[in-house]
Formats: sequence, C-alpha cells, structure tokens
Amino acid sequence: MNEKEIKMISIIIPCFNEEGNIIELYNRVCEFVPTKYQFEFIFVDDGSSDQSLQIIKKLNLEDSRVRFISFSRNFGHQNALKAGIDNATGDCSISLDADLQHPPSLIPRLLEEWEAGFDVVYTIRVETSNASMFKKATSNLFYRLMKSISHTQVVQGAADFRLLDKKVMRELSKFTENYLFIRGIIAWMGYRQKSLEYKAEERFSGKTKYPFRKMFKFAIVGVTSFSIKPLKISLVIGFIIAILSFLYGVFAVYATLFTNYTLSGWGSLIASVLFIGGIQLVLLGVMGEYLGKLFIENKKRPNYIIRDSNISNP
Ligand code: UDP
Ligand code: MG
Repeated sequence: MNEKEIKMISIIIPCFNEEGNIIELYNRVCEFVPTKYQFEFIFVDDGSSDQSLQIIKKLNLEDSRVRFISFSRNFGHQNALKAGIDNATGDCSISLDADLQHPPSLIPRLLEEWEAGFDVVYTIRVETSNASMFKKATSNLFYRLMKSISHTQVVQGAADFRLLDKKVMRELSKFTENYLFIRGIIAWMGYRQKSLEYKAEERFSGKTKYPFRKMFKFAIVGVTSFSIKPLKISLVIGFIIAILSFLYGVFAVYATLFTNYTLSGWGSLIASVLFIGGIQLVLLGVMGEYLGKLFIENKKRPNYIIRDSNISNP
C-alpha cells in the first residue's frame, strides 16, 4: 500500500493529573488500533500539577507519534477536547478519557462504522456497575431535563468517547463559545451519526476529576447552552402568579367594601409575600444565569491558552 493511502487517526486524550494512567492507556491504544492505519496521539495536559506532562514528554522521546499540548492552567475537560480537535491532523479523531473508563478495545468498531460511511460515531455508556447510585440518579435526571426542555436531543448516557470525521472536526473548530457542551453541539450539528454501546470500566488509577460540584455546573451549562425554555417558564409562572394575585386583590376589595368579613391575621399575608418574593428571586436567578453567560461570551476570550506543545503551529 502506498504511504499516502494509509489513513491517519488522531487519538485525543485530555489529561488532568492522570500520571498513573498515561502509560497503560498508551499501551492499550497501541494494541487496539488496527495495523492498516497510521495514528498519532494528542495528549492535552489540562494544567496538571503531577507528573503527567513529564510522562507524556518521555513517551514522545520513545515514540514520535506522541504529541502534546499543555495548557497554561486548568481550562476543563471540554476545552481540552476542543484543543485536541483543533490541532488534530488525522482523517478522523477518536477522543477518549485518560482513565481507561472508555475501553480502547472499542476503537476497531468505531473505525468500522466510520469506514461504513458515518461521520460521527459516538458511544453510549450502559450499566456502569461501578458508578454510585447517586451519580446514576443525577445523570438520569439531567438527561430527562435536557430532553424535556431542549430541542437538541442528547442521548442518555452519551459519552465524550467518540470518533469524528475530519470534516466534522473542522466545523467543530469554528465553535468558539466559552461554555462548551460538546455532546450537545455534536447532536445539534447533524451529519450521519451512529451510536455504539460500551460498558464503562473502573477508573484505572487516581480519583475522578468530576466531583459533584463540577458535574452540577456542567449540567447547568448543558441546559442553558441549548435552551431558553427556563426563561419562558419564568414568564409563565410570573403570569399565573400575577393573575392569582389580581383575583385575590379583587376578592379583598370586595370583602372589605361589601361584607363584614375582616381580613384576619398577618399569617396569610406574610406567607404570600414570602412566597411571591421567593419566586421572584428564583426567576431573577434564572435570568441572571443567562445574563452572566452573555456577559462572559461577549468578551470572546479564547477557550484555552497553550503554554507548551510539540505540535508546530498549535
Ligand atoms: N479532565 C480534564 N480536565 C478537567 C477534568 C477532567 O482534562 O478539568 C479529564 C480527565 O483527565 C479524564 C477525563 O477528563 O481524562 C474525564 O474525567 P474523569 O474520568 O475524572 O471524569 P468521570 O469519568 O469521573 O466522569
Ligand atoms: Mg473517568
């Protein structure tokens, strides 16, 4: 086969303090990429404070296919993925987590579907025996919420373990929004998409980098980046309360003028004042969420800053 006909696969791996996983992941990926392809690794070091970057640089001395991008600080998983996609030179890219929860053994299947003509091959996590009940329940709730309020349908359990054709990568690179929710963007983009199921493995080494606080923030980004329904719901709630208050007002005036029913007690008064006050604060909060996003997006700051890389012109 002529060198030019060999297709190039870019393997993108975001790493945030993953020193215990990198070598194992490297070996597993090398084992599973079919030999008829060329491939490159793009490790994106998302501001790790451990030995991750040193380990990647050492790998590069042994294997020139290992490339890296190192951020100036931690910019988050989604931005790390984007940096990988922006800088990949392959005919397609496959992104997977560094912790081996995304089994490299699925790579041949992803490539088969790509060869069959799909532009996006994404994966769906089934039965994560190791995930906590709490994580499962909150994840369920999130996908249900997404489904009910957004036109963009993100499939439940969709993971950031996916293959993208070069043309999808080029389009994705044009997205410069700061609040990235790549799963949603991919669903929004269209193209010929195919899903495959996988069973998530245990994390090989280290701890999760997505504690509940971060997951929650990410879920808010997911919802608010793809729907303005929360704002519309605010409007509806506001209307209903206004109408009820008006009716109650009419009743109060009528009662004072025409009956000897005297409005008794401050209890009901306080309760309704607090209730409406509370609802107003919630609605203001929803608006604030969108306003804040607008403020940040308007600055058009870059998604990430690269401090060091062995890719020319990153
Ligand atoms: N990650 C990252 N930056 C972050 C958090 C996570 O690059 O700020 C990477 C992490 O190194 C891993 C992937 O994103 O390769 C998924 O993170 P993790 O496995 O901790 O998430 P979980 O599987 O627990 O949801
Ligand atoms: Mg993980």
